[in-house]
Amino acid sequence: MIASVLPTYSRAPMTFVKGSGSWLIEEDGRRFLDLGAGIAVNALGHAHPALVQAITDQAQTLWHTSNLYHIPQQQMLADKLVDATFADTVFFTNSGTEACELAVKMARKYWYEKGHPEKVDIITFDGSFHGRSAAGIAAAGSEKMTKGFGPLLGGFTHLTFGDHDALTAAITENTAAILVEPVQGEGGIRPLPDQCLKGLRDLCDAHDILLVLDEVQCGVGRTGKLFAHEWAGIEPDIMMVAKGIGGGFPLGAVLATEDAASGMTTGTHGSTYGGNPLGCAVGCAVMDTINTPEFLGEVNRKAGLLRQRLEGLIAAHPDVFECVRGSGLMLGLKCKASNIDIVNAGYAAEVITVPAADNVIRLLPPLTITDDEINEAVFRLDAAATAIAVT
Ligand SMILES: *Cc1c(COP(=O)(O)O)cnc(C)c1O
Repeated sequence: MIASVLPTYSRAPMTFVKGSGSWLIEEDGRRFLDLGAGIAVNALGHAHPALVQAITDQAQTLWHTSNLYHIPQQQMLADKLVDATFADTVFFTNSGTEACELAVKMARKYWYEKGHPEKVDIITFDGSFHGRSAAGIAAAGSEKMTKGFGPLLGGFTHLTFGDHDALTAAITENTAAILVEPVQGEGGIRPLPDQCLKGLRDLCDAHDILLVLDEVQCGVGRTGKLFAHEWAGIEPDIMMVAKGIGGGFPLGAVLATEDAASGMTTGTHGSTYGGNPLGCAVGCAVMDTINTPEFLGEVNRKAGLLRQRLEGLIAAHPDVFECVRGSGLMLGLKCKASNIDIVNAGYAAEVITVPAADNVIRLLPPLTITDDEINEAVFRLDAAATAIAVT
């Protein structure tokens, strides 16, 4: 008999009943150190006082109205994002997938309104992940995500990540946009080097193509800048955001320049919940907390500490781990042993990591993790690696 919850997930045998800072408490009382943060969602850890305050205050005042009316919290969050980024305008969604849907629609509508209805093709890269909607799976293109779900949304060209010659060759008069994650998350924490991101920007400028960045996982302070593309000193035309921006409340956004957004006029897009008062009240608290030089400076300092400790861990377990890669507190340990075995051994040692493609385990701790917790995390990962080596 089918489970009452549609069985699309493979779940680890834990049930968490409470969270506090970097810790998750299992129903049997065990305390797990959380280096997964709900896949980079709990950017401020669990039950952060500023977020608890923001959602409690808003819950006692007004949860939801509708985008039929003005929503002050939405206006405030949009202004914060516009002030802090390349963007001139923001649309709020409830998830990264929905942000992908709008990014694709916006790019196509842009060229349609500019008198180029033929420009509909979007170039994406292998190993990418843009969500599970029809546009999201077509964009990623992997067999794992698309098999059986045809006919797929057309107009996507999939290239090998980092193959510059293939990219230049793939551009045609019909290319509307290049869509890329500055740091691939699901694909195994594969950062696009700053030079490549700069090169992509130049290529887009030279060929009249929109640069669309998916910062759903790598954005909102994760890499030590508010958004990862800032490291390369470039600006996209359109950017997808979600995960960390809501700190655990389902919230996403598409940010765009005035020009890139110019096709999206009244009635061309909408959402019932997107940008509702509860979500945006939390989003404002997330932005106020993360987007300060002090907070981001600490993310960078702690990222350096974690990375240094991980280098020591790899040196101590050369048969288990190969290397560490990534940016800021978005780190991946490329494994020699099976990444799934290591994640499971981590559970036994009460430390949570997240598997990714390319035999990688992801470390995406709360950005608020302390130095002591970093040391404890690596101590537990060492125990997990030792257990793997023994078996
Ligand atoms: C998680 C993720 C998405 C999809 O976001 P959902 O909120 O799960 O819909 C899209 N792109 C990237 C890079 C992601 O990591």
